[in-house]
Amino acid sequence: MAEKFIPVADHRVLHPVPVVPARLEAPAGLLADALARPLHDLRISVTDRCNFRCVYCMPKEVFDKDHAFLPQSSLLTFEEVTRVARLFIAHGVHKIRLTGGEPLLRRHLDKLIAMLAALRTPSGDPLDLTLTTNASLLARQAQALKDAGLKRVTVSLDALEERTFRRMNDVDFPVADVLRGIDAAHRVGLGPIKINMVVKRGMNDHQILPMARHFKGSPFILRFIEYMDVGASNGWKLDEVVPSSEVVRMISEEMPLLPVDSNYSGETAARWRYADGGGEIGVISSVTRAFCSDCTRIRLSTEGKLYTCLFATAGHDLRTLMRQGRNDEEISTVIAHLWRARADRYSEIRSLATEALALRGPKVEMSYIGG
Ligand code: SAM
Ligand code: SF4
Ligand code: SF4
Repeated sequence: MAEKFIPVADHRVLHPVPVVPARLEAPAGLLADALARPLHDLRISVTDRCNFRCVYCMPKEVFDKDHAFLPQSSLLTFEEVTRVARLFIAHGVHKIRLTGGEPLLRRHLDKLIAMLAALRTPSGDPLDLTLTTNASLLARQAQALKDAGLKRVTVSLDALEERTFRRMNDVDFPVADVLRGIDAAHRVGLGPIKINMVVKRGMNDHQILPMARHFKGSPFILRFIEYMDVGASNGWKLDEVVPSSEVVRMISEEMPLLPVDSNYSGETAARWRYADGGGEIGVISSVTRAFCSDCTRIRLSTEGKLYTCLFATAGHDLRTLMRQGRNDEEISTVIAHLWRARADRYSEIRSLATEALALRGPKVEMSYIGG
């Protein structure tokens, strides 16, 4: 039998420390990148660890007992995270999503949430502060997260069928505990809650209809995500992607769907509503319909590296700048320069020229910079 070995590059050594420009500038609250895209969303990874081993994200054979996760000293402190967030808000960010790894594994996360929730945009508004979680620890943390100032949660759930869900998370975690977490979050008011299902052909595509039936008419918005070629370790193949068009057709045959206009420019999910008034679903077509032209997101890794694209091969080391004692104006100017230089549009390019990707270096893992 062929050995299943997938090499994983260590992206944590590839990060340049940004050069601080000689001319410093004050943030104007509005930045545009090289493709005229504004900066609105910051995703912050608060841990690179996870208690799941989802086959499409942290496959067991790579993230095994020998995998070197980040030591505590490498992690940004809550003060450092809050400082970076504050600088980004001055540049126009108004939405922050905490992610990971599994963010609820980060100790005292509610304290970080309270610190972020106290921040205000230049016009005095609170942030849209959300979190993405596998919900394994949500039932016991929901109230504390809400009390700390978290607005909403998005929960990942790839199947309702026990056997399939356990195969997807690969640590034998039961569905019922995730459903309990979702209910607890709903009860304490962390809604509207979105439920994300990554669809991998041959693994959980038979769960599309049961998931749609289950969440139809509920307060939860189910979203189907195309399995992406993120990272270097999931052994991605195009034929394992179930195109969103297929998902919509499949559901619509049983429960007719109508398109809905998007809420705002930059929204990643295309929305559909049930013709009979049973609520809505979303589809995120990261592979078949790239949305790079509307991408307003930047990502901060657990150890303070900035990534201007989910598919970037290297991050920009803000932690070193902070720990060198650089002041706010210096770091803020660095951020402005990084965003203005941003020309990433990986998904669009992938759609245009898949073969050119072979020339690129290894991509960063989703569990490291967060989804
Ligand atoms: N652990 C948390 C969770 O699973 O919700 C947060 C981090 S996880 C990396 C964020 C999101 O990325 C999840 O919804 C997950 O399903 C999604 N994701 C991870 N790998 C993916 C892939 N290869 N393709 C599409 N989505 C992926
Ligand atoms: Fe963990 Fe989330 Fe990745 Fe699954 S998708 S392995 S829960 S980080
Ligand atoms: Fe944004 Fe990069 Fe994804 Fe395109 S590929 S949508 S630029 S993160």
